[in-house]
Amino acid sequence: MSAPTSASSAVQIAAGVRSGQLKAADVLEEHLARIDNREGEIHAFNLVLADQARAAAAAVDAAVAAGNDPGPLAGVPVALKDNMCTHGIATTCSSKILDGWKPPYDATVVTRLIAAGAVTVGKTNLDEFAMGSSTENSAFGATRNPRDTSRVPGGSSGGSAAAVAAGFSSVSLGSDTGGSIRQPAALCGVVGVKPTYGYVSRYGLVAFASSLDQIGPFTNTVEDAALLLDVIGGHDPMDSTSIPAPQPSLLGAIQQGVEGLRVGRITDLPEGADPDVVERLEAAFDALRAAGATIVDVQVPAFSYGLTAYYLIAPAEASSNLARYDGVRYGMRVNAPDTNSMYGVTRTAGFGDEVKRRIMLGTYALSAGYYDAYYGKALKVRRMIADDFDRAYQRADVLLTPTSPTVAFPFGAKGDNPFAMYLCDVYTIPTNLAGHPGMSVPFGTGAEGLPVGVQVLSGTLGEPQMFRTAAALERAMGAAK
Ligand code: GLN
Repeated sequence: MSAPTSASSAVQIAAGVRSGQLKAADVLEEHLARIDNREGEIHAFNLVLADQARAAAAAVDAAVAAGNDPGPLAGVPVALKDNMCTHGIATTCSSKILDGWKPPYDATVVTRLIAAGAVTVGKTNLDEFAMGSSTENSAFGATRNPRDTSRVPGGSSGGSAAAVAAGFSSVSLGSDTGGSIRQPAALCGVVGVKPTYGYVSRYGLVAFASSLDQIGPFTNTVEDAALLLDVIGGHDPMDSTSIPAPQPSLLGAIQQGVEGLRVGRITDLPEGADPDVVERLEAAFDALRAAGATIVDVQVPAFSYGLTAYYLIAPAEASSNLARYDGVRYGMRVNAPDTNSMYGVTRTAGFGDEVKRRIMLGTYALSAGYYDAYYGKALKVRRMIADDFDRAYQRADVLLTPTSPTVAFPFGAKGDNPFAMYLCDVYTIPTNLAGHPGMSVPFGTGAEGLPVGVQVLSGTLGEPQMFRTAAALERAMGAAK
């Protein structure tokens, strides 16, 4: 029996376990050993579930021994961002305010992963309530980038990105409201996908901005991301915004190549990407051209308004969603003489600075007299962005941009300047506003030898062509090695 190596993909692990050539228990122990080795340094997890994972792996092996098929993710170690509900297991959103809370149910994605034979190894660290781009906003301390531990892993799903990059889990799930899967994927050198809004159920995802939030995978390969989305995607009656139509298999799509595909270059993209990042983007256009795609110029004029509109819409929704943390229904309570002051002191003690900033921004944007000027205006800009993208997608099947304007930055580099932090997502946010899919694919290295990600975007339910493009980029990188 051949032991898995750190290079084993989820596809390979599942195939090995299903055929009986690999033991889920051995695969798990290898990942747990890496956690033992390096988690003290990286801090990818809020909680490691070693005992529970051992029991799950044993059950997978027992199923195989009994002649049953555990499913397409048989024995694949997976890590979950700690804003996804796990039945009876602490779910913190890296916030003190949820201290002691254990969800009474599993998120739909968790149910689907388990049903497919995956083994949950732990809950990963994030910026508190998924607000941030560096995982420095966690109430439990920052996560370090496994590629360079003096630097951030990106955020907000930094723990999930780091878990895959460090080999703590084969794959992981994150959530992306404005870039929180794609940006950390780019900074940690892994694949990260934000699907079309409604592609993956949000049932059991703790809400940040409900009209923008989507769950998606972090993986080492494009094929693994396709496998994961095939498992977790699809209609869920528990989420009224989930798309009520069957989705084509992405594993099938990635075999197709990019011959004849129209790849768009956005000529009016906001400037500000570092030269090393731009250089990799140009190399990506060249690689796709060489693989048979046609490069076309398109314009998305409202793209550059994305950041501004997002920082009205997302905080507005957050201020409403986070009102439920009142010291009564969930988690921590700080006692006070009367109910109103109890709300005040609980929320003051329970939320960190960035969360408070968003609640204040959002409450202001929604307040009487300002609603039309701020929130209402932002909604109009959101429509313009979606319309501009739709026009671009009449001429191009996919668009290519940088994922992040920079490679991973050192701790503290943007800590005292919220606006500098917000700019990390200038290329990812417009897609969330439009509801479209986007993914980041590692495409070589930039400054200091750090990973650079290229972002592939497509229109609503354009996942098949987005994955075809990503797979072609991955092949080109493999060929260049
Ligand atoms: N960094 C962005 C923010 O702070 C996006 C976060 C996310 O996608 N969850 O809001």
